[in-house]
Amino acid sequence: MAALAGLLAFSFWYSLFEYQRQKDESEAYLEASSYGSLLRSEMDRELNALLFISNGLSSFIKVYRNELETKKVQAILADLWTQAQHVRNLAVAVNYKLAYVYPEKSNEKIVGIDYRDVPSQWPKVKLAIDSRQGVLDGPLDLIQGGSGMIYRFPIFVDGEYWGIMSTVIDTHGFLEAAFKDHLRHEFTFAIRTADNKHVFYGDPALFRQKHVYIQESQVPNGKWEWAIENKKIHDLHDRRFGVSLSLFFSMLVGLFAYFFAKERYYLSEGALMDSLTGLPNRRLLENRLNYVHSEAKRFNKMFGMMALDVDHFKSINDNYGHDVGDEVIKQVANVLKFNIRDVDTVSRIGGDEFVIVVRDQHSEESLVKVATKLLNVFKKPMHIHGHEITVHLSIGLTLFEPTSEFTLKQLFKQADIALYQAKQKGRNTYSFWQ
Ligand code: GH3
Ligand code: MG
Repeated sequence: MAALAGLLAFSFWYSLFEYQRQKDESEAYLEASSYGSLLRSEMDRELNALLFISNGLSSFIKVYRNELETKKVQAILADLWTQAQHVRNLAVAVNYKLAYVYPEKSNEKIVGIDYRDVPSQWPKVKLAIDSRQGVLDGPLDLIQGGSGMIYRFPIFVDGEYWGIMSTVIDTHGFLEAAFKDHLRHEFTFAIRTADNKHVFYGDPALFRQKHVYIQESQVPNGKWEWAIENKKIHDLHDRRFGVSLSLFFSMLVGLFAYFFAKERYYLSEGALMDSLTGLPNRRLLENRLNYVHSEAKRFNKMFGMMALDVDHFKSINDNYGHDVGDEVIKQVANVLKFNIRDVDTVSRIGGDEFVIVVRDQHSEESLVKVATKLLNVFKKPMHIHGHEITVHLSIGLTLFEPTSEFTLKQLFKQADIALYQAKQKGRNTYSFWQ
């Protein structure tokens, strides 16, 4: 019962913690998702500003394609470059060959390069041309050194492919600018490209964590994946606190229920009575003996103690079955009770063993009288479930004398020894402890 109460309490507390945790978790995920949307829109804003440049240049080329001079192109690129932030360089390829770059300094290396000869970049260049749309590539290692994202914008003149414009973006500066006003200590996040899972912002380990919010964002001709961790979610998932607290409360309830049940049981009749015979059990016997013992000492009285055991009871069980055996024990109990005064105590202390406390005895003889009477009563056979069964007892006797200072424990032992002697003498008899 105590275990059940503990279990119930545990389920109750655990469900309560679990409910609250799940509620907090949903809220935390919601916070992460709205934070994610904010970051995504900031990033889109920053990206749009860059795309705008490409569109501007593309329009210029379409209009002045027949009058293009290096000087003019360089001047336009320089102007666009100063307007744009986080752009490392702008480049224009005519056909597939890189023809113009700004700033020229430290980028001279790339002029003259044919994209088709750069396996790391050609696929995305080709994708931009084939799809006739801008493609965001990277972050990747640049030919001129360092790393950056490249926005490729194909230019078509009269429906024909003319060339491609590349805007090389400083990834770090770009992302820092996008997020600068929105970095919050309660969130951490990481971004990776969806196609090759290259993490270019934040801690890559975030993507391997269990309780992070994952979102996607569209970039020109591609996708990015974001892992956003609301630190709250992480803390919530440390369930040990909830479980330990539930366990603690449950143990408390279980213990309380256990002691309550135990107390109730001790106060109940069941704890003092033998369930088969209804006689006092060993606990009540000890109780009564304590009383009789102190009374005898105080008033200088004697009392007797008898240990009785059914002879060859096992063979009754064996011959007639356990049910008949039980019935025999019950009848023995009734007979004993019937033949003993009400002031005395007949108790069953186990199996086929009984103990009788006989108060106010004056001598060994008076106790022997009682024992002899009992032995005689059992001469008559019992009728149980259609069987005629003769039951005999062996009896061990001992007498408490107030001058002896014997303890109850010793008295029990003496009665037991006397009983053993009665059995030794051949059973169906009594023996007195000397
Ligand atoms: P002894 O003459 O030496 O007393 O021999 P015994 O066969 O009576 O053996 P003992 O007193 O040692 O064993 C008593 C047996 O009583 C052992 C057990 O199988 C049986 N027994 C114990 N409790 C019960 C009970 O509640 N009902 C029944 N039917 N049998 C019981
Ligand atoms: Mg016996």
